[in-house]
Amino acid sequence: MVKKVDHIGIAVKDLEETLKFYQEILGMDLQGTEIVEEQKVKVAFLPIGDTEVELLESTDKEGPIAKYVEKKGQGVQHIAYRVENIEKAIEEMKEKGIRMIDEKPRYGAGGAKIAFAHPKSTHGVLIELCER
Ligand code: ZN
Repeated sequence: MVKKVDHIGIAVKDLEETLKFYQEILGMDLQGTEIVEEQKVKVAFLPIGDTEVELLESTDKEGPIAKYVEKKGQGVQHIAYRVENIEKAIEEMKEKGIRMIDEKPRYGAGGAKIAFAHPKSTHGVLIELCER
């Protein structure tokens, strides 16, 4: 069902500070940033090989990323897997008893169609399905 790791989502407190580490220490290039209003998050894209790192900073203290950082601290928040047909992938997951947070695809950064599966159904990892 999944084709590759599309990106790794990392929750951070301070995007500007974090970008210094990724750019100046790791030498990665910033491809761009985007504010996704629906998820109250500012996203920075850093491609690496055929995947990318997405740094996520909350734009609102009530947003999901703010809550995540408050509860668990900064760190890897989700792994996104590329699928070719997200509607079909969601249906397949549901048929196999996987609890989906999103039963319909929603807008993801970079214009992707995304849907999250609940970590309780995925052995502890917040998994994002991502169609581009
Ligand atoms: Zn993501």
